[in-house]
Amino acid sequence: MKKETKLINAGRKSQWTRGVVNPPVERASTVVFNSVKEMKHATANKTNQVLFYGRRGTSTSFAFSDAMTELEGGAGCAIYPSGTAAITNAILAFVKTGDHILMVDTAYEPTRDYCDKILAKLGIETTYYDPMIGKGIESLIKANTRVVFLESPGSITMEVQDVPAIAQVAHRHNCIVMLDNTWSAGVNFQPFDYGVDVSIQAATKYIVGHSDVMLGTATATAEHWPKLRESSYIMGQCTSPDDLYLAMRGIRTLSVRLQQHQASALKIADWLSSRPEVETILHPALPSCPGHEEFKRDFSGSNGLFSFVLNKGNQAALTAFLDGLDHFKMGYSWGGFESLILGISNVNSMRTATTWKYEFPLIRLHVGLENVDDLIDDLEQGFTRFNAALTP
Ligand SMILES: *Cc1c(COP(=O)(O)O)cnc(C)c1O
Repeated sequence: MKKETKLINAGRKSQWTRGVVNPPVERASTVVFNSVKEMKHATANKTNQVLFYGRRGTSTSFAFSDAMTELEGGAGCAIYPSGTAAITNAILAFVKTGDHILMVDTAYEPTRDYCDKILAKLGIETTYYDPMIGKGIESLIKANTRVVFLESPGSITMEVQDVPAIAQVAHRHNCIVMLDNTWSAGVNFQPFDYGVDVSIQAATKYIVGHSDVMLGTATATAEHWPKLRESSYIMGQCTSPDDLYLAMRGIRTLSVRLQQHQASALKIADWLSSRPEVETILHPALPSCPGHEEFKRDFSGSNGLFSFVLNKGNQAALTAFLDGLDHFKMGYSWGGFESLILGISNVNSMRTATTWKYEFPLIRLHVGLENVDDLIDDLEQGFTRFNAALTP
């Protein structure tokens, strides 16, 4: 089945839909049994998508979990109330006091905070590594390294990692390979074909796609799924069926949305490449992005999220650019239908293992589904304000 067709069918088996098109919203805490036999059967099968107790899941969550497993691969998918909860719980499922993990230097900021503020407190040590390290990761692996965590492309700066090279070395040392796969939406990168053991997404972004739900997923191989599932259950992770319903609605249009986000983002990237104010464009599909070769080898498409670096400017000029925009709203998220923008002048403060080599501000765009010419007009006026602010 091609990916477009998979997205239409994912999670829609008749056991969950019961004859209508979409798996219904099933609200439940308590499940009631009509006989001791029924109750015993549910208890014996509580990990097998059987109604047992609300926290173990309902037909809505079973359908969404199936849908994500069909999209990403793997043996099962645990659901969390946010992408951050998916990351923190997935790591915690596989580490104990005295262990060591390797975390990519370009990880999403709360992922770093979790390592520095929570894992450290539990006596679990983190070493940050260069996203472009590839098989060189071997030199950082210690006897107690349990998890190698990747995020590709990297947050804000978009480096594409050599996932198979890192996974191969990690497995040789019995480490579990986890990937924050949010950017690919599980559609443009198939994590389990490249050696990933646990693939995590902030479904908040493209899966939901409409900026109205917080949701996280962690999908795992058959080897690691039982431990991940049980740990997530013990930690009390569960999600509203209404949110899961919206996420499944998002999945149905994911392919066409991604295609339009991609086309508009590439058009804007191309336009930016001719702007005199732009130093470089960090878009995985362009040769100027670190890891572009890995992107071409491993990904089947891109989306609306990329960054570019300015070759001049200061905080006042950046503010002039950002403050007057009509369509690009300032916000710390992406993956919805709307365009978003983020101006960052201190990339180095988010890094410890690598040094950011650019002097001037970085701008991250999420290119939404508005008409792309309106978006280019908006940015063009931004550059006019930017240049005026720089002219004494
Ligand atoms: C947004 C995001 C997260 C966190 O997801 P939340 O649902 O906001 O907690 C994690 N990783 C990446 C790459 C993200 O963009």
